[in-house]
Amino acid sequence: MNIAVIGAGIAGASAAYCLARGGASVTVVDAGAHTASQVPSALVNPVRGQSGGVDPQALAGMGFTWGLVRDLEAQGFAVPHGQSGVLRPVPDDKARARFERNLPPDLARAWFRPEDSPQPLAPGWAHVLSLPDGGWLDGRALTAALLAASGARVVQDRASGWNAQEIHCPRAGRLKADAVVFCGGSAGVAWAGEAATHRMGTLLTLDRAVTQTPVSFGAYLAPAREGGVLGATFETPAPTWHPEALPLSSLGWLLGKGLRLTDLRGAQVTGRWTGSRLSGLTTGQQPDGTWRLTGLGSKGFLLGPLLAQDLAAQLLASRAG
Ligand SMILES: Cc1cc2nc3c(=O)[nH]c(=O)nc-3n(C[C@H](O)[C@H](O)[C@H](O)COP(=O)(O)OP(=O)(O)OC[C@H]3O[C@@H](n4cnc5c(N)ncnc54)[C@H](O)[C@@H]3O)c2cc1C
Repeated sequence: MNIAVIGAGIAGASAAYCLARGGASVTVVDAGAHTASQVPSALVNPVRGQSGGVDPQALAGMGFTWGLVRDLEAQGFAVPHGQSGVLRPVPDDKARARFERNLPPDLARAWFRPEDSPQPLAPGWAHVLSLPDGGWLDGRALTAALLAASGARVVQDRASGWNAQEIHCPRAGRLKADAVVFCGGSAGVAWAGEAATHRMGTLLTLDRAVTQTPVSFGAYLAPAREGGVLGATFETPAPTWHPEALPLSSLGWLLGKGLRLTDLRGAQVTGRWTGSRLSGLTTGQQPDGTWRLTGLGSKGFLLGPLLAQDLAAQLLASRAG
């Protein structure tokens, strides 16, 4: 069975990997631009944002992602990562109570007083939640390893149209397939002219990891393949997608959030990476017969691989039946 996947971010690369493992012959068409999954260091963090919400699939997703990283490393791919835990400082008792209400019983956790935090924090935090099964990974490396390990044929082009059985590409022409899976991310839905909610964010890359364990509230500090990052997805949600830019006011906001987390003295900014993520999870077969995994929001590496595996299983079962 031949399956064509549009998009080689974490959604498309995971889908290609899972479909190939299920016996399909996979072609991936990718424009090679505006790929949110190239994020230099992404958190695998089951407890989200400032609300402390936990997705029902967070634990399964986290376990699946770490399992994939181990499988890929066993196959010889290097995926810089640290399953080092994640620290979530919270500002007051109310925020702690909100977080506690959301924590499922089977999620490993410990609460610390700020002075006992495993990583030194700036003053002003009331409590620190430690999530020992979380961590960070190199988004670009994981995505590239999944794509390479899938053995998929990769066509570098921007699909201009598609239906359930074929993709049209300006350069590569018409690609026929038994099924088409769209994993276009933020840029892809914008190119397709779809209404959507896009959210830009930026990581400053740092010459050193300020904290060995990622620390996250409002923004995150994490180790990276080289040095570390300070980042967040924080621009105002927008109905249109714009190529990556970093307004100066955003730079000030991000540095302020970083200083609120911990002492940044001694760290140098070496660069920046800006991307856009897409809200509104859509997965499974669509009314037009195509398949789709889009709208992973800020949970691309927490849930993307697991959801791709579910999609691949459904797609392959639908063809076998
Ligand atoms: C600043 C920032 C920080 C983030 N931090 C985290 C984090 O800590 N943890 C976490 O889990 N997630 C994080 N995310 C979110 C995560 O990056 C995304 O959820 C995830 O990468 C989305 O993956 P995707 O495969 O859906 O889309 P993308 O990675 O955007 O990939 C889509 C691909 O499809 C291609 N494409 C689109 N349309 C077409 C077409 N018509 N033809 C051919 N190719 C096409 C694009 O060129 C692109 O390569 C962050 C995002 C940002 C912006």
